[in-house]
Amino acid sequence: MGKRIDPDPVPTGKTGQLTMKITFLGTGTSQGVPLIAHPATGGCDLGDSRNWRTRTSAHLKIADLSLQIDAAPEFRLQCIQNEIDWIDFFFLTHGHADHIMGMDDLRRFIDLRGGEALPVYSTQEGLDRVSTIFPYAIRPKPEFKGYPAFALNLMPESLELPGCQVDYVALPHGRFEVMGLVFTETESGKRIAYYTDCKRLTPRAIELAKGADLVVLDALRPMSHPTHMTVHEATEAAELLGAKQTWFTHMTYIIDHEMDNAKLPNTVSFAYDGLTVSI
Ligand SMILES: [Zn+2]
Ligand SMILES: [Zn+2]
Repeated sequence: MGKRIDPDPVPTGKTGQLTMKITFLGTGTSQGVPLIAHPATGGCDLGDSRNWRTRTSAHLKIADLSLQIDAAPEFRLQCIQNEIDWIDFFFLTHGHADHIMGMDDLRRFIDLRGGEALPVYSTQEGLDRVSTIFPYAIRPKPEFKGYPAFALNLMPESLELPGCQVDYVALPHGRFEVMGLVFTETESGKRIAYYTDCKRLTPRAIELAKGADLVVLDALRPMSHPTHMTVHEATEAAELLGAKQTWFTHMTYIIDHEMDNAKLPNTVSFAYDGLTVSI
């Protein structure tokens, strides 16, 4: 059963160069897959490497920018395995542990930037959590060489970066509001929407992502959950948005890539760790 979406199709940008690229560093729910002391019985086939899921985060290349979304607890290993060697801007979708706990390892990128603080964008809740967990990193330069330094910025509704615009929409996630992000490449107008950790899409989120070139959606598991979309809810959202391709993320051990992927519409697929998609 092959995948229905070509994960790396021929680039179609004006210049013929790859213009937008997303790498799924991690695609697992907050406990990862497999769980500790749990053989995934009745769930996914652990003989398939696509079912081994570190916590959810992603890296985007847009124009000349390297953009990092969230830093999972496995962030250091994710960077090594996926050869991430630079970050220009960091986006924290929200302050849950599975998205924030790898941020100390951003220190290496601050070192590579010559000790310049890394711009971090998030909600007020997200920034408050960064300040609480990493107080030693809130400074324009590292305290000592090799230490982290974050320049905290409240995410505006629309952020203009060189060659790229980033629109932000709040998504409901229980007691949290999560940053939904839509990246538009200035030259081509291509759009990638990244909506992780949400119970549903808001009218504004639908407006921003409708007809996008690529959409990423939270799709936890088949059974209902108070703060995440189920696979069925995410599939409905994907059909509503009508993106050229939709990739699901933040899955539990119950999702088996091969078996459950076959049940999804043709333009929708479960992502997996290490997957890179270029548009
Ligand atoms: Zn999460
Ligand atoms: Zn969360």
